[in-house]
Amino acid sequence: MTLYNLYNYTLDELIDFMQQIKAERYRAKQIFGWLYDKGITSIDEMKNLPKDLIKKLKERFLISIPEVKKETKSKIDGTTKYLLRLKDDALIECVLLFDNERITLCVSTQVGCGCGCRFCSTALLGFKRNLETGEIISQVMLARKKTNNKLTNIVFMGMGEPLLNWKNLNKAILVISDKNGLNFSQTRMTISTIGIVPVIKQIADSDLKVNLAISLITVKDELRSELMPFNKKYSLKEIIKAAEYYNKKTKKQITFEYVLFKNINDNEQDAMDLIEKLKDVDYKINLIPYNSSLNTGFSKSENEKMLNFQKILISHGIKAFIRKEKGADIKAACGQLAANIN
Ligand code: SAH
Repeated sequence: MTLYNLYNYTLDELIDFMQQIKAERYRAKQIFGWLYDKGITSIDEMKNLPKDLIKKLKERFLISIPEVKKETKSKIDGTTKYLLRLKDDALIECVLLFDNERITLCVSTQVGCGCGCRFCSTALLGFKRNLETGEIISQVMLARKKTNNKLTNIVFMGMGEPLLNWKNLNKAILVISDKNGLNFSQTRMTISTIGIVPVIKQIADSDLKVNLAISLITVKDELRSELMPFNKKYSLKEIIKAAEYYNKKTKKQITFEYVLFKNINDNEQDAMDLIEKLKDVDYKINLIPYNSSLNTGFSKSENEKMLNFQKILISHGIKAFIRKEKGADIKAACGQLAANIN
């Protein structure tokens, strides 16, 4: 019989299971305590559970944790990349970023990615599979351990498209934020998406308090389709509408990510077009200097151009930030995660 990883379940799902097997509800909380507070690695270690419950759990579940295959640390800024091997030998990466008191984990949500963005190394892997809930949570548990519980932020911005694995990611977010789970605030989590419109609306309609970032890249529809083939599925117009809907329902600002490529989307007119197209959206914008990826044909905007782009936005009252490049020497920066093929 197939055994299921205990890390794949929310507290409510475990409570349901307890009811199915006629065990007390509070046992589910005890199990969560062992998993997330004590960090045990086998069901036998759950010392306060009755023997027959341990037996029933072992008939149905196991505890599976990815193996850290490699740890690489940037000499420039301390950024640390972890290469993890999953139970089917698939490889993923997650990255710890340090910025004074702020310690951020960049989490992967899929093995590879099927979106095909022309400028992103992960795209070259193609889509292999969705990560299970437990495989997403394990990255956070590893980061907490490595930082002595000092992790302050989580960004779902690693390998894959988070909103194409929403069911498993949603459950992972619930466990990570559960008081009996990892008790990590949803307001310090950010999901980055290419813009999967129906799921953006679903998040807007939910009670989740996570932040949302959309990889905009350009406001020119044709160019966006060229750079990001997925744009043909959900057009810019629909994405911008979804962003407005998100503003309205959550009363929260949205973040747009805009990777700056030399001579492609970095001139003054591009900045002006952006301001015009987004005039009805409540947003801030992160300008990301292009990081060299395994794809060819792109180069980084010149510093002066980036600063000018930012200046134009700011002069129109828009909060615009240039993201600091981190971990480029260990291929851990945005768009560089390719699980060791580079
Ligand atoms: N699929 C999600 C999350 C992964 S990509 C998304 O697209 O948002 C995370 C961020 O890295 C996105 O904003 C993406 O546009 C950016 N990115 C991808 N390749 C990059 C590169 N070569 N240089 C800089 N940023 C890049």
